Amino acid sequence: MKVLLERGSSVAWRGASTLGSSALQVLSAGMSPEKEKLLRYKASYLSGVALTKPRGISLELSTACNLHCKICHQWKDNREKQALDEHDVKGIIDDIAAHFPHAVLEFSGQEPTMNAPLLFFALEYAQQKGVQTALNTNGMVVDRAFAERLVAAEPHHISVSLDGVHAQTHDYLRHMRGSHAKVVRAVQSLVAAKESMRSRSAVAVTTVLCDTNLEEMPEMHAFAASLGAESLNYNAFVLDNSYFLAPRERYEECEFWVKEQRLPVLEGVVQDILALKEAGARPAITNDARQLRNFPEYFRNKANFSKGKCLAGYNYFHIHKLGDVTVCGKGPFLNVKQYPLHEIWHSYSYYRTRQLIKQCDVPCLNNCFTLL
Ligand code: SF4
Ligand code: SF4
Repeated sequence: MKVLLERGSSVAWRGASTLGSSALQVLSAGMSPEKEKLLRYKASYLSGVALTKPRGISLELSTACNLHCKICHQWKDNREKQALDEHDVKGIIDDIAAHFPHAVLEFSGQEPTMNAPLLFFALEYAQQKGVQTALNTNGMVVDRAFAERLVAAEPHHISVSLDGVHAQTHDYLRHMRGSHAKVVRAVQSLVAAKESMRSRSAVAVTTVLCDTNLEEMPEMHAFAASLGAESLNYNAFVLDNSYFLAPRERYEECEFWVKEQRLPVLEGVVQDILALKEAGARPAITNDARQLRNFPEYFRNKANFSKGKCLAGYNYFHIHKLGDVTVCGKGPFLNVKQYPLHEIWHSYSYYRTRQLIKQCDVPCLNNCFTLL
């Protein structure tokens, strides 16, 4: 019965979306693409009808992680049911190619390289179908041979997590001695493989800014440059990055949350990073400048941080390793083994999820709310 209701609602919402898109086309005639995009998001946000398509889809390919990072809760999710297989991944990629051809499919979640056969299958099949991909990895298993196979499939970018310039800092946060040396090897291997194979994939570094590594953050830029990375992204630490493992920690008790008395240090760090960004220094800093300027307020105001309007329901979703589609743990919790992705996007459950996102009270510095 639920399946019939979801399918029926999907047909109705898809119809509303098609009608709305036609009306928008008339209204936006002569507008610049940027203005047209803004209008589309505003109309979607106000009506709850998705007049947009996802730009980013993240997919968990592995049911485990080879690290137990102190700043992460995802590895604690050890629910073992039937994980995704090649058949499911093929269906997801076919659906994206047919319905969301401009989306980037990002392999992330726990550690995707832990399931190397499925990762390579997904990368290579997506390449055949013309679906753009990206990969987030902790770099633990990425040696030169692994790097060559990755860049051969030409993902748009491969992003490697590095949380300290100094080995001691990274190894502490990642809870594994020697992990810093492996990340350095991973970035260098990817850069060398990309150059020798003339691949277009970009090699990126991503770093979680927290109380422990605060002073190292400006220096991270020069360090990423010395490894040959093309871009660098700073992510503000989040209290619970799993979105489903309750209860949440408390800010005051969390070792990694930037403390009140350390906020002046953070303000100086942000100024240094902004100066590098404004000077156009390489690697490119991919954070939005407004997002960087908000870092001190984010850590100062905690649950009261005012983030603006979240557009995550109109441009993004995540596919959990067991196949459930979610946006930050708010729903719609429909499974790709049961429903095609485009039906999920237009379902009533997704409509309900978009309403819940409007009420989201999680302090958040994601990029999903910068348009409105
Ligand atoms: S942050 Fe990434 S690498 Fe670390 S435990 Fe979590 S999923 Fe694994
Ligand atoms: S504000 Fe949006 S992107 Fe941030 S946690 Fe809430 S739903 Fe997710």
